[in-house]
Amino acid sequence: MVHGGAGDFGSLKTDRDTLRYLEGMRSTLEHGRQILQSGGSALETVEQCASLLEDDPVFNAGAGSVLNEDGKVEMDAAIMCGETLHAGAVAGIGNIANPIQLARVVLAEGEHVMLIGAGAQRFAASRNFEYMPDRYFLTPMRLAEWEQARLIQGNGLEGADAASLSGSENKYGTVGAVARDRLGNLAAATSTGGIANKRYGRVGDSPILGAGVYADNETCAVSCTGVGEDFMRTVLAKTLSDMIEFKSLDGPAAAREGIDYLMRKVKGRGGFILIDKQGRCASAFTTRKMIRGWIEQGGETLCQF
Ligand code: ASP
Repeated sequence: MVHGGAGDFGSLKTDRDTLRYLEGMRSTLEHGRQILQSGGSALETVEQCASLLEDDPVFNAGAGSVLNEDGKVEMDAAIMCGETLHAGAVAGIGNIANPIQLARVVLAEGEHVMLIGAGAQRFAASRNFEYMPDRYFLTPMRLAEWEQARLIQGNGLEGADAASLSGSENKYGTVGAVARDRLGNLAAATSTGGIANKRYGRVGDSPILGAGVYADNETCAVSCTGVGEDFMRTVLAKTLSDMIEFKSLDGPAAAREGIDYLMRKVKGRGGFILIDKQGRCASAFTTRKMIRGWIEQGGETLCQF
């Protein structure tokens, strides 16, 4: 399963705009199918799917990341292996094309789970990640959005109330992937530029294990999107896993209970995708839309907006 964010997507005025998003979902899913069919692992699949979405500038991750209050890109990403519960995360990172690949290196080296800011940047350089200039990220669309966000919200998130965050032009666009492979291993990945015009140094839910991402072979793999603070306060990805672990729910039932929980506790804005240990796919969201796609048990490729 993959997602490309939740929100109102009010800026998508034409069918052509919508098709761009759906095309990104569909080609990423087909790529994921190929990796899994040729015996690739769930972990490799989610890393590669998230990387493809990071490379597509329509999504708010990698090349298409939104800008913070300083007009700069600060990205967060995490990847988790459901077999071992090993994970890697990076936060507040710039000038890297694929933060999810850096998170995977953090996971693979195993010494730490999360690196942030300048430390993550130094680690990236030491592992020969290419330094991407600012112009790689500053697309005309993101600059225009940033200017608009500053008009509505003022300087930083302080001026933004709930209404403006969920306003009709607002979309979150984070990317995520969850997969289950032939061996029954689960994995999850989430990558984002965060929220447009966010405060310098703000970190959202995406790189936080249990909030925006989680995977455990005994339960499910989850990737969330939306207003990160809502998902951090409800630890939603781990809450969904716990519903399966401790209440013996299946994935779709946990998704229904989980979205009610998010709403009841914090009136949460966003959604998630989930694959359970049996390979059942589920998603739920509280925003007007969430772009997502899935291939269940090797079946048809389906995408929904
Ligand atoms: N959850 C992300 C964050 O708060 C944003 C998103 O999902 O688009 O950083």
